Amino acid sequence: ADQFTGKTVLVTGAGSGIGRAAAVALAAEGANVVVNDLDLEAAQVVVNQISDAGGTAVPSVGDVGRAEDVKGAVDTAVSEFGALHLAFNNAGISGPLGLLTEVDLEGYRRVIDVNLNSVFYGMYYEIPAMQQAGGGAIVNMSSILGLVGSSTAVPYVTAKHGVTGMTRAAALGYANQGIRINSVHPGYIDTPLLEALPGEVYTSLVGLHPAGRLGTADEVAHVVLFLLSDRAAFVTGAQYAVDGAYTTQ
Ligand code: NAD
Repeated sequence: ADQFTGKTVLVTGAGSGIGRAAAVALAAEGANVVVNDLDLEAAQVVVNQISDAGGTAVPSVGDVGRAEDVKGAVDTAVSEFGALHLAFNNAGISGPLGLLTEVDLEGYRRVIDVNLNSVFYGMYYEIPAMQQAGGGAIVNMSSILGLVGSSTAVPYVTAKHGVTGMTRAAALGYANQGIRINSVHPGYIDTPLLEALPGEVYTSLVGLHPAGRLGTADEVAHVVLFLLSDRAAFVTGAQYAVDGAYTTQ
């Protein structure tokens, strides 16, 4: 199936985990992929993986916490492939743990920049490009922690709830212009992001999911591809949980 043939997509944080899985799957379905990551080597590995499989991708190294870097990634899509049709604003970090008053302010600000301001910058530059292209679709990465709280991940919860609200507001603004904007809310997914957590915390995460296991990056990517595809033509402003019933409890 080549449902994304002729489409160009920007995936941020595509050098690892969920972003990487989505970038590879989108390329396999025919999309031209702009592989953004902070880590040049990681981005290049993914571009090579896509090229080796017969797909088309270019790297765009940059920090999504900086507006000019995000603009650069959108500009790369347009200059390399002529237009931008789709975007997955995915890059994110876990950030400082602990109660609110235990968090260091530098860590707090960085999580807001990388997990929340990044999504604003993304849509700020992606939407005009999609208007030029005659329409588009955007998926923003939130989390179960963009729907429910956690006492010990305050900066992350704050950023991800912000992504949920920003997505709803933007979806309303562009719904009549053929630009769909949705958010995804994964439960705990087995990616390098979780390596930052202490071992006993990692183990305890399994029990929080009624499904009895963590999710995989591919399982999230499948939902992202659906939301970016024409099959989701009437889906906008929605919050898609991919969480083994975590938030259903
Ligand atoms: P990951 O660490 O495997 O991959 C994240 C990628 O983003 C890395 O390649 C990293 O280099 C890149 N990145 C980090 N900061 C960046 C920046 N400033 N600019 C550009 N790239 C940057 O993580 P993942 O688990 O695949 O997470 C991807 C997204 O999914 C994040 O937004 C995360 O909050 C969210 N998420 C993850 C889980 C989970 O359990 N893994 C659950 C819910 C939501």
